[in-house]
Amino acid sequence: MRLWSRELWRLAGLALAGLVIGWLASAPGLGLSAGLAVSLAYHLRQLRALHQWLTHRSQAEPPAASGLWGELFDRLYKYQKAQRLTQERLRATLKRIQESSEAMSDSVVMLDRRGDLEWWNSAAEGMLGLKAAHDRGQHITNLLRDPRFIDYFEARDYREPLTLPAPIDERRVLQFQITLYGDDERLLMARDITRLHRLEQMRRDFVANVSHELRTPLTVLAGYLETYLDHADQMPPRLARGLGQMQEQTTRMQNLVNDLLLLSRLEIDQRLEENTPVAVGSMLETIRRDAESLSGGRHEFAIEIEEDRQLLGSEQELRSAISNLVFNAVRYAGDESRIVLRWRPWGNTACLEIEDDGQGIDPVHIPRLTERFYRVDKGRSAATGGTGLGLAIVKHVLLRHDARLEVESHPGEGALFRCVFPVERVADAAHGDQAQRA
Ligand code: ADP
Repeated sequence: MRLWSRELWRLAGLALAGLVIGWLASAPGLGLSAGLAVSLAYHLRQLRALHQWLTHRSQAEPPAASGLWGELFDRLYKYQKAQRLTQERLRATLKRIQESSEAMSDSVVMLDRRGDLEWWNSAAEGMLGLKAAHDRGQHITNLLRDPRFIDYFEARDYREPLTLPAPIDERRVLQFQITLYGDDERLLMARDITRLHRLEQMRRDFVANVSHELRTPLTVLAGYLETYLDHADQMPPRLARGLGQMQEQTTRMQNLVNDLLLLSRLEIDQRLEENTPVAVGSMLETIRRDAESLSGGRHEFAIEIEEDRQLLGSEQELRSAISNLVFNAVRYAGDESRIVLRWRPWGNTACLEIEDDGQGIDPVHIPRLTERFYRVDKGRSAATGGTGLGLAIVKHVLLRHDARLEVESHPGEGALFRCVFPVERVADAAHGDQAQRA
């Protein structure tokens, strides 16, 4: 404010001086104009200095001036210096980030909000085949053209990574993960998991081979035991009892081998292409009959169909998964319990529920129930003839049907196992009939 009034005083002084000199020379108007012209010339000179400084010498010190102009130059200079410092700091941070990404063996690709390539490290060049010269600004799906990648990229659901063969070498396996950041920009990371994938494959093959090799000896054992036990009445009781136990354990081993084989078959391909309409009502009816014979009248069963749409998938796999859930209810809910098999709407889609009012499960166990060989009560599970693989099979079947398993249970309050299917796997009856005819 002080500077402004000083500036006004200066202008008034010049005008007055002009006026006085003009008055002495008998031309006060000319004198006043001359005074104002001097002031204007001064401001124009400062304006020119400012213009030159900003356009040609922005790095140098500001022009020397006093008063309001001096203050203006000073402030602009300070602002410019602060800006330059921030820019340098940002540039250094960016450089450090780029250097550390450059040192990574994983591919890092920065994409703008449209999905065009902005920057990538050299690992991305070797792994994804990006070329610095012509690929900058290209859309990522022009370079990674696998339809599975395009679906993943466009679905914008990046919670799970995507595993695919490398675009430039089919023998290598890459895991892609996308992260959204900033103004809808995306960071794509790709990691070479060929070794891990091979180990996983070896583990799967090993389990499948061992299970397969065990099948024949077990069949022979079971066959002989059955023949011997047909003549149990001619044997000493101790021997017959021993043979009976051997038969029980052989059956357990056969069940285990069958479940292991089924699991490794389900694991080979995570996604099922089969889309056969399944009439859920009659499938539940068959499962109920099997469960009733396992129960031997110790449980009460009910089927509730509140949904008339059909399920699209593999009837054999779905039946095996739902049977596992129902047989578990028979084995663990306890005598006299009521077991309900339910097919009902769930939001705009549908779900299959198996509910019992038995002894229930402590919620601490629920997150781990679908792990292989995870048992809540080891002794009880072995006594009921469980293999420990039932819920792992359920999980894999549901995964192949893009569905999820939800478990609700508390000790003493029964258990509810809910299989929620995506809307694409639920078809109305008319669609189902058409698909069946096709
Ligand atoms: P298992 O072959 O031992 O039955 P599963 O994977 O089928 O293996 O089940 C894992 C565990 O979950 C079982 O050991 C059992 O303790 C528990 N469980 C499964 N279903 C029920 C149920 N309906 N009620 C109580 N516990 C259950």
